[in-house]
Amino acid sequence: MEWLRLALEEARKCTATPTAFCVGCVLTATHPPESDKPVILARGYSRELPGNTHAEANALAKARQLSENQLLEMFPGASSPISIDAILCHADVYTTMEPCSIRTSGLAPCADALIAAGIKRCFIGVGEPDDFVNCEGAQKLQDAGVEVIWLKGLEKECLEVARMGRE
Ligand SMILES: [Zn+2]
Repeated sequence: MEWLRLALEEARKCTATPTAFCVGCVLTATHPPESDKPVILARGYSRELPGNTHAEANALAKARQLSENQLLEMFPGASSPISIDAILCHADVYTTMEPCSIRTSGLAPCADALIAAGIKRCFIGVGEPDDFVNCEGAQKLQDAGVEVIWLKGLEKECLEVARMGRE
């Protein structure tokens, strides 16, 4: 829940728009995988990177920009060489809203991007309402073997922030 609250903080940084949701997410990982304290790899929010970009894709992009030195600082228990791909495949994502399964803009949907990165678990604050498209992100993730966990208790807040630009 603590990570979802951080993701909500990210979502609040979004520039509100009536045509898209405001979503925030946090990528966490332990490395080596059996170590117990998760570290924040990256955070992201909707439209943070140029273009009509999404929170999850932005967090992944930012994680991939980390240098080896930055990764070694984040994970002092790890040894060099350390690769972001190896970390991402046992990483968790906490997102305020269900990752998208369809992008009308032609960009890759976040569910696909998370699956391609090999993310292990996806914690979701609230399902995507049918405001724009019918989202099947959670189903898509599950079908690809990603564990999907619906977090309880912050649904209303996640939805309110998502719709910041819509009133
Ligand atoms: Zn998306």
